[in-house]
Amino acid sequence: MRSSLLCAALISIFCLSVFAQTTTPANSEQSVPELDHFDAAKVDKSVDPCTDFYQYSCNRWIKDNPLPADEIFWGAFGKLQLWNEAVLHQTAVATAAKPAAERTPIEQKVGDYWTACIDEKQRNATALETLRPALERIDHMRSKSEIAEILAAIHLSVYGSWNPSDPETYAAMFGFGAQPDFHDTTHVIPQFDQGGMGMPGRDFYLNNDEKSADIRKSYLGYIAKLFELSGIPSAKAHADAEIVLRMETAMAQATMDVVKRRDPMNLDHEMGLDEVKKLTPDFDFARYLQLVDAPASSKFIVTTPDFFRALQQLIANETLDHWQSYLKWHLLTGSAAEMSDDFVNANFEFYGKTLFGAKALLPLWRRCVQAEDRDIGQALGQAYVARAFPPESKQRVQEMVKNIEAALSTDIDSMDWMSPETKKQAHIKLTAQIDKIGYPDHWRDYSALEIRPDNHLENVRRSAAFELHRQLKKIGKPLDRTQWGMTPPSVNAYEDPQTNTINFPAGILQPPFFDPAKDDSVNYAAAGAVIGHETIHGFDDQGRKFDENGNLRDWWTPSDAQAYEKRGDCIADQYTEFVPEAGVKQDGRLTQGENTADNGGIHLALSALESDLKAKGESLDAVGEDGLTALQRFFLAYADIWCSNVRPEMMRTLLLMNPHPLDKYRVNNVVSNMPEFAKAFGCHKGQAMVRANACRVW
Ligand SMILES: [Zn+2]
Repeated sequence: MRSSLLCAALISIFCLSVFAQTTTPANSEQSVPELDHFDAAKVDKSVDPCTDFYQYSCNRWIKDNPLPADEIFWGAFGKLQLWNEAVLHQTAVATAAKPAAERTPIEQKVGDYWTACIDEKQRNATALETLRPALERIDHMRSKSEIAEILAAIHLSVYGSWNPSDPETYAAMFGFGAQPDFHDTTHVIPQFDQGGMGMPGRDFYLNNDEKSADIRKSYLGYIAKLFELSGIPSAKAHADAEIVLRMETAMAQATMDVVKRRDPMNLDHEMGLDEVKKLTPDFDFARYLQLVDAPASSKFIVTTPDFFRALQQLIANETLDHWQSYLKWHLLTGSAAEMSDDFVNANFEFYGKTLFGAKALLPLWRRCVQAEDRDIGQALGQAYVARAFPPESKQRVQEMVKNIEAALSTDIDSMDWMSPETKKQAHIKLTAQIDKIGYPDHWRDYSALEIRPDNHLENVRRSAAFELHRQLKKIGKPLDRTQWGMTPPSVNAYEDPQTNTINFPAGILQPPFFDPAKDDSVNYAAAGAVIGHETIHGFDDQGRKFDENGNLRDWWTPSDAQAYEKRGDCIADQYTEFVPEAGVKQDGRLTQGENTADNGGIHLALSALESDLKAKGESLDAVGEDGLTALQRFFLAYADIWCSNVRPEMMRTLLLMNPHPLDKYRVNNVVSNMPEFAKAFGCHKGQAMVRANACRVW
């Protein structure tokens, strides 16, 4: 239900729509950029590490690595992302060039997807015509009873209706997908979730400040622009845009806010289909379920019943032609980034520039790599794994994961605030956690998905249907804990509380995160902190509510739960702060899980490193060739992965919606809670990086 995305989620969550185009670079080996490697000499010696460790570690990086015009966020994650995409690009180009007769079925899909996506002329000539029948079908609606039928068609052709918890998805009306039963994860059941908006969340519709009003004005312009591009006369396009914004605002008012959604108890509403129908009697659920081909189920999760009651009011009160505008809008905006240049540019103007602050469109080759990774990532990613993730890397990471889990086991035993009963349960949960490293044991079967070289939008639409059907086929079947929610080249990682798994794609197990050329102190600081972070997610404010089987079950004694929450509040308060450059506040309650994971994760990485060194007869205090102790290198390498530049617009959007704190806090708040850091750099009481009220959960 929730994936605890590490940081690149900051980028990937929102980047689906941040698309662009310029020229295609050469396809040669040289077009793969250099990867960053940790270099301890790059610190800013004019800053005292005990005053601001982020500036000390990152000032030079930040100055030397200005944001490229087409980026909204630029740091170790983004640079590695670009490297991964360049590798995938080479694979796609080489596969497309292979003679058809020599290609395997997987290569046919990888090559033909690429050929269609990169062909701008074909996209410009065919995109709107491809969408025309679906648009006309909306024009021909005779009554509001047909909304369900049209919505099913949109969900089957616009990627994203299946993962409604993710703001990236912008599902029309509501989200629909398959989820493990909250109380019995051995069963997968259907889930209805709130949705319906085209902006990233309710605050964008409801906040009264000037900036929010400006964004809504741009949004209205974007809606009208897409209507005009689809052939609607200007005056009507503008009037229809007002209707869409009004309807989405009504939906926004009925949605549960991001902080309340963090508590899975608030989403735990299971009901039979009859009860679902009573929430929104004017929506034909039976027809919708039949058309999306959802297997029958006696139980449904409805995360936010109030939202579905509000939908009923909207269906009853808005006219048929208002609904036609709304549905048409979602079909258009959900397809725009995959269409012709005019649609792509309009989409970029709002999502890329207004919401995230990008100055230029991403080149077409990168948009195509990202689309192909999204649509057939387990086909495209196979060659990436072969090239970039050798068995030795997998084995070393596996060892690190085991050592970090052992560190958590020791940590649990040492907690003076937790009773033996709760400790026993925590150990059971930790032992049951499954680690997945690099790539799936079995690659996804794409044989039912048709990919052709002559029409990109059709490939995208068929891929969306394939993905929704793949998800829905899980309904009624036992939960498969081996499936991956990210593709192998993703620069990201996640913990999934319902499968009790931690997942590390090959894409993040590269320099500067995992660097076979570097020593243990650097690798534990970067990859190790990521591993520790995901491990802790199973025990953060959300994760701790799920048991070893992923069931939503309280395994804490009341007094231990209370002690936990006190510690959680300490962390939440530490991260709540107004951020002047963004003009909004960072909400420590929204970022509490990530903060807990960052603070606990680095502890685990450090104690695993210490044990590893001890086993080799080495120590954290040993001074290396660069004149630094292993402990100093550890903290510097940790800070290094968070050095970044970010656009103010992106920063503002992240602060409002994203559960991750800004990078500066991921360094300074974490180290200032740690006596080990003070020891490493000789910091003393009263200095900014030594907190008087240090927080510690794990
Ligand atoms: Zn996380």
